[in-house]
Amino acid sequence: MSDDNDRLIAELLHHRLGALAPGAAIAPAIQPASVFVTPSGGALPPYQYGRFHNPTWDETEAALGLLERADVVTFPSGMAAVAAVLATQTRAGSRILMPADGYYASRLIAEKYFGPFGVSTDLRPTAAFHEGGFAGYALVIAETPSNPGLDVCDIAAVAAAAKAAGAVVAVDNTTMTPLGQRPLDLGADLTIASDTKAINGHSDVLFGHVATRDPAIFAALADYRKYTGPIPSPFDAWLVHRGLETLELRFARMSANAAALAERCLAHPAVRAVRYPGLAGDPAHAIAARQMTSFGFMLGVTLADAAAADRFIDTCAMVQASTSFGGLRTSGERRAKWGDPVPEGYVRLSAGCEPLEPLWAAIGATLDAL
Ligand SMILES: *Cc1c(COP(=O)(O)O)cnc(C)c1O
Repeated sequence: MSDDNDRLIAELLHHRLGALAPGAAIAPAIQPASVFVTPSGGALPPYQYGRFHNPTWDETEAALGLLERADVVTFPSGMAAVAAVLATQTRAGSRILMPADGYYASRLIAEKYFGPFGVSTDLRPTAAFHEGGFAGYALVIAETPSNPGLDVCDIAAVAAAAKAAGAVVAVDNTTMTPLGQRPLDLGADLTIASDTKAINGHSDVLFGHVATRDPAIFAALADYRKYTGPIPSPFDAWLVHRGLETLELRFARMSANAAALAERCLAHPAVRAVRYPGLAGDPAHAIAARQMTSFGFMLGVTLADAAAADRFIDTCAMVQASTSFGGLRTSGERRAKWGDPVPEGYVRLSAGCEPLEPLWAAIGATLDAL
């Protein structure tokens, strides 16, 4: 599987180059445009109006599509991508199944904005996502590892059972990226991603995408964006294209750091518990080892209580106190403050790209001082 990633990344770095004329720029162009030349006669040109198409989106969608081996529609945020899936895959009377412990805004928009139109949403914990079956659901959205608790579900088993029951199966793959896990290869109909996180990776843009190999799902999403207007800016698309070119390097460093931090935190007396799918004793380990090509860059470290967790985040020189994850810098957040179902002292850490030893020196010293 990881040879496969290597080949995809090598292809990604070269995919535009064969088509470039002598003297052309190696990097794609940022093309801001609301209107394109559209003569009255003859066939419609590929670009007409900025809400329909944009050459810079095409570059980013081609690059993401190569990694996903699928068709991709990009959006101006991860939530715009989630909303597009809800809007195109449900109608009055539809039932949706979502994780109780997944990204809270996804549950919120399903209930708050789709509920009044007759769409009902059921919630189930990720670790027990399979239990109870999938009969009657139009749309099943899994998130694995879940954010922020880092529980997992078996994507292949969920996809097979939910599709047999007639559901469209979506996986929010934000925490893993296609380099860490390939839900489409495991049977999902579509993946959703907040590219704000690791895919862009530089904490400077919001972006999202949906990937699918199903032409009808793709056409519905493309039309939805075209007519309702949640379009990414060309500049943001360009930034994400640029970020994507170093994803593999960043993801490898971040994941190696997370694995080392998980082991070392687990051995520290100030730490009550560690969640990381790569730890042999983690409840998620067996399924994670089967379906993930890497154990990812996120870990959960439980400290004594809320005060210890806040002190850790606010005083560690190499942990940036911030929400979100997947950036160059190691960041941490006490998720219980947002009401997530995790212990009060649970710190979600997103391992960054710092060299490990100085990073651990700072984290270890902060834990020592708690
Ligand atoms: C951040 C996140 C989103 C929402 O993405 P935005 O880019 O912030 O709109 C959706 N799903 C998951 C799992 C996320 O972590």
